Amino acid sequence: MNEITVKQILQALSHVDDPDLKKDIVTLGMVKDIKAEGRNVSFTVELTTPACPLKAEIEKACRNAIKHFISDAENIDINMSARVSSRRDKSEVLPGVKNIIAIASGKGGVGKSTVAANLAFGLSHLGAKVGLLDADIYGPSVPIIMGLKGSHTQINSNGKMIPLEKDGIKVLSIGFMIKENQPVVWRGPMISSAFKQLINDADWGDLDYLIIDLPPGTGDIHLTMVQHLKLTGIVMVTTPQDVAIADCRRAMSMYLSENINTSIIGIIENMSWFVPDDAPEKKYFIFGEGGATKLSDEFNIPIIGQIPMFQNLQTKADNGTNPYAESNSATQHLIKITEEFARLVSIKNSQISTTSQI
Ligand code: ADP
Repeated sequence: MNEITVKQILQALSHVDDPDLKKDIVTLGMVKDIKAEGRNVSFTVELTTPACPLKAEIEKACRNAIKHFISDAENIDINMSARVSSRRDKSEVLPGVKNIIAIASGKGGVGKSTVAANLAFGLSHLGAKVGLLDADIYGPSVPIIMGLKGSHTQINSNGKMIPLEKDGIKVLSIGFMIKENQPVVWRGPMISSAFKQLINDADWGDLDYLIIDLPPGTGDIHLTMVQHLKLTGIVMVTTPQDVAIADCRRAMSMYLSENINTSIIGIIENMSWFVPDDAPEKKYFIFGEGGATKLSDEFNIPIIGQIPMFQNLQTKADNGTNPYAESNSATQHLIKITEEFARLVSIKNSQISTTSQI
């Protein structure tokens, strides 16, 4: 038997492609800590997100490549890890944050905050460092969904706001700055300055993903955000009804317009259908069908996923409970959407940046 060499291992793994990034994992620099001892082979594969839906597939391809190209290999120990990719750099606002993604909608009530919170819960559940910023000035619901209602932030020794924490997720809400039930009648400059405070005067630290829950529509906060922050991109949330689709189309046109020029990562269609508890084989498309597909075709933007109406999603949100505290059909469905979201962010980070600061 010949000694297995590191070179042989690299050669074998150069036949394994990352299906999304369309290059082999050695060229992409994803293979680390290679060890060859006798017939034992061990190495680490560093993915671009812990939420990678192709994790099992890539691991299997690595194992097969080693077996195929190094017949002497007996024990193959593969450690799958992740370092979240980014196209943001250290000179930007929030230098420690790798990806900033804003969750937007044309209309209110379509489930934008529910989606924002569930993406944050899902990414954190899969091992990412996550922050959630609630900038929905007209209806800040994140404090309720995250079970932090009535909480107030503290200031650290550098005079910065310390985000609250829910199951490891850092959370700040414009709702923490106003009294409960107080109607918000702020003017444009005040709204912009409150948004900037939540960004600049807070200690967000190092994060893989900062999710921003925007107010519905397009207004002062949206403009302040795209001027002030280099975003990774936007996720649009809509329900299938014609009115929601029409408002979503307007908002998408604004984000993609020449002077805003922000990229849209994908569309999430929420409340796509309803499955009654007592007849799980039935699917009722109560708000119509095909709305998000129309938008996706029109703008050439992918659909991240469709979320049906889940009764327990709503009760969990109202009670501020982490949906991943238990596994059920809703969490299994939502985790797939989270993985698809993370996959599209990673693909976007591997391409030339199209999001520019204006
Ligand atoms: P928005 O942020 O767009 O105004 P919310 O996220 O606050 O909307 O959602 C509005 C209401 O609908 C909330 O009570 C929420 O719990 C509920 N909801 C949202 N999505 C779903 C869903 N897929 N299944 C069941 N209830 C949902």
